[in-house]
Amino acid sequence: MNTAELGDRILNGDRRALARAITLVESGRSDHRSQASDLLAHVGKSGRQSLRVGLSGTPGVGKSTFIESFGMMLTAQGLRVAVLAVDPSSARSGGSILGDKTRMERLSRDRNAFIRPSPSQTHLGGVARRTREAIALCEAAGFDVVLIETVGVGQSETVVSEMSDLFLLLLAPAGGDELQGVKRGIMEMADMILVNKADGDLKATATRTCADYAGALRLLRKRPQDPEGFPKAMTVSAVEEHGLEEAWGQMQSLSQSRRDSGYWNANRSAQAQYWFEQEVRAALLARLATSQARSEMERLGEEVRKGNLSPSAAADTMLDTLVAG
Ligand code: GDP
Repeated sequence: MNTAELGDRILNGDRRALARAITLVESGRSDHRSQASDLLAHVGKSGRQSLRVGLSGTPGVGKSTFIESFGMMLTAQGLRVAVLAVDPSSARSGGSILGDKTRMERLSRDRNAFIRPSPSQTHLGGVARRTREAIALCEAAGFDVVLIETVGVGQSETVVSEMSDLFLLLLAPAGGDELQGVKRGIMEMADMILVNKADGDLKATATRTCADYAGALRLLRKRPQDPEGFPKAMTVSAVEEHGLEEAWGQMQSLSQSRRDSGYWNANRSAQAQYWFEQEVRAALLARLATSQARSEMERLGEEVRKGNLSPSAAADTMLDTLVAG
């Protein structure tokens, strides 16, 4: 099948074609890369937009349970939902926290859902590119909501928030001390904090935790583009399916307000620019890592040590080599 045919099938919402196309964008082979760019150019003309929702949380907080319940609620409303994962553990070790196929069993059987586990053994930069391209393919395939899930460690929240329209932080009920454990930078990214497991014995703690986080969010700088009350904290129970409709209602009202104010488009443009710059940086770093570049660094470094070249002059020479590379 050529890329135009594959593209047309995706535009018709064919899930198998979509899965095949994502495999293509994940491939490191240069002929696949060029087919992938043709394909993305082909489907990019559709102009379809999904609501891209980023979701982060530490292992065990209930991400898969939440995505399954939340996803089932959306598909019951006739919406089509895609789930993608950015998994930093698979980038490091080849093992995956998020890629387990037994997760989200009910949702994976739903005709209106599409779940794609994280690819393994790609560096985080590679995962980011693959995920952005997979999002573009899901949008072209007409998914209304694309959920992008990540484990809350390291850089992956930034990666996901830079490709999402809304960013959710899922937290567990906790004592006051643990509140300090959430880094300020991550709090600042969140449009909504959802305190999960607000059921049974944990309900009262969840309510208290939610109030604590609501207080913490109020101390952050208010975002001028957003209506009063955002970012906000809410309680949910993924298991008992409580609070999911309310959370969805809030997400819709926030995204509608951002569309109306023009922030939505401005944010997507800024994200596109961010990824352009990231890709240039990543490509330059990759050039710096080749053995040829490393030996040139070594050689110039030696000249600097001996006092034959100034650090700046050597740096200029090195940069010229990289750019010419
Ligand atoms: P993940 O690692 O973030 O994907 O978390 P999981 O979805 O695998 O859930 C971790 C554990 O928390 C499982 O034992 C779930 O049954 C439990 N869990 C998830 N959501 C809820 C909830 O809403 N209430 C309660 N009580 N337990 C939950």
